[in-house]
Amino acid sequence: MWAQCQQILRDNLSQSAYQTWFAPVVALQCENDVLVLQVKSQFIVEYIEDNYLDLLSRVLRKVFGPTIQLEYRIMVAGGMIDVPSEPLREPVARPRSEVYTPHQEIDNAWDSQLNPQYTFDNFVKGEPNKLARAAAIEIAKNPGKTLFNPLFLFGGSGVGKTHLAYAIGNEVERLDPNARVLYVAANTFKLQFQDAVSHNQVPDFLMFYQSVDVLIVDDIQYFSDLKGTQDTFFQIFNYLQQSHKQLILTSDRSPMELQGIQDRLLSRFKWGLAAEITRPDYPLRRDILLYRIKKDGIKLSDEIIDYVASNVSDNVRDLEGVLASLLAYSTLTDSPINMALTETVVGRLVQLHPKTYLPADIIAAVCHCMKVSNQVITAKTRLKEAVKARNIVMYLIKKFTDSSLSEIGKYVHRDHATVAHSLNTIEAQMSYDAVLRQEVATIERQLGR
Ligand code: ADP
Ligand code: MG
Repeated sequence: MWAQCQQILRDNLSQSAYQTWFAPVVALQCENDVLVLQVKSQFIVEYIEDNYLDLLSRVLRKVFGPTIQLEYRIMVAGGMIDVPSEPLREPVARPRSEVYTPHQEIDNAWDSQLNPQYTFDNFVKGEPNKLARAAAIEIAKNPGKTLFNPLFLFGGSGVGKTHLAYAIGNEVERLDPNARVLYVAANTFKLQFQDAVSHNQVPDFLMFYQSVDVLIVDDIQYFSDLKGTQDTFFQIFNYLQQSHKQLILTSDRSPMELQGIQDRLLSRFKWGLAAEITRPDYPLRRDILLYRIKKDGIKLSDEIIDYVASNVSDNVRDLEGVLASLLAYSTLTDSPINMALTETVVGRLVQLHPKTYLPADIIAAVCHCMKVSNQVITAKTRLKEAVKARNIVMYLIKKFTDSSLSEIGKYVHRDHATVAHSLNTIEAQMSYDAVLRQEVATIERQLGR
């Protein structure tokens, strides 16, 4: 049952948060409605209680039942001590109307599926998110009544799209507790729809989604190539838009670059505002670090702050991961956060996502591993092996360099639409084809040397 809880926690947290705080927790026993979790230190207990108690209690109550209580067993120098958790809180219940039941429903109230931790207050302002943030604030004050409908937020991974979308939803709820806000990941929407089809419940599904005041669909690129899902979403979109309800969509690329999405949907995505969040620049990275440090009461020297802000440049999620690791290491080893530790932690991350390879090196590694000549990468040939090598080249250039789609196109002599299409194809393939993943991993190791 704890494994089930961990699965839900994993779905609701960033990977680094999950890995740092919940992955290592072991369930020891559950007797008389008291669950005992083994945790490595008092610090981790405090961190979990301060930051995740709401989420944890919702999850535990869902899986173990509403009367479950929690204790932590902590390893200390001389042995173990048991500490009771804060009482697990009852979520605020609101009246339930004709609600379509999502899979992860936790209690009987209208559940917006919003994560309450992500708000405007803790979203740090900066040049890369200026427009998106300003539009989001306007929308939250007047959902459905601004020109920004839909709001289409796009940008790379970990730049704050989901955070901003949640912030809008949370603010709308704060201003109007009766508003029906709903957050749904595009993948979840797809699964719910497929489920509704197989149970002959499509009308209920439509009715449920059409009853929402603010609909947030996260990572809409996952609707790619799903005709039934897109048709249904099109109906919902039109209905909500005509009733002046607010739509908020996020995507990892602009509407222009989305592949496999029907034109009628794409053109609607452009009706409102498409706002890009770009990668955090140095001032924003620094401001985010300073904000976190202040909030968590961590002591870090200026030198360390500058080192992290300079070296962890890709996205905000990585920045947070580094901070969490620094904290965890320093508590577990009972040593201060110094430069040596920082370099190790940052170095590990940079090794995980090296962004420094040259496209030429990538092409060489792919051709070497796949035993094809370098010419096939730019050639017109559509032979299977050539197409595959070319797709992997594009995939790795995107992963390991800052190249735009058009720049990638130059290396393979293709236009940016073709690159976008190929990337879609290979990314989808990577998600189910273990052999391909192996091959790509081999090439990445080759690159590393
Ligand atoms: P995306 O959806 O774009 O992949 P997220 O919204 O999940 O990214 O953001 C990744 C992490 O970075 C989250 O924990 C989020 O709170 C944090 N984050 C991103 N941008 C900011 C910001 N401007 N201020 C504070 N935290 C941020
Ligand atoms: Mg996201």
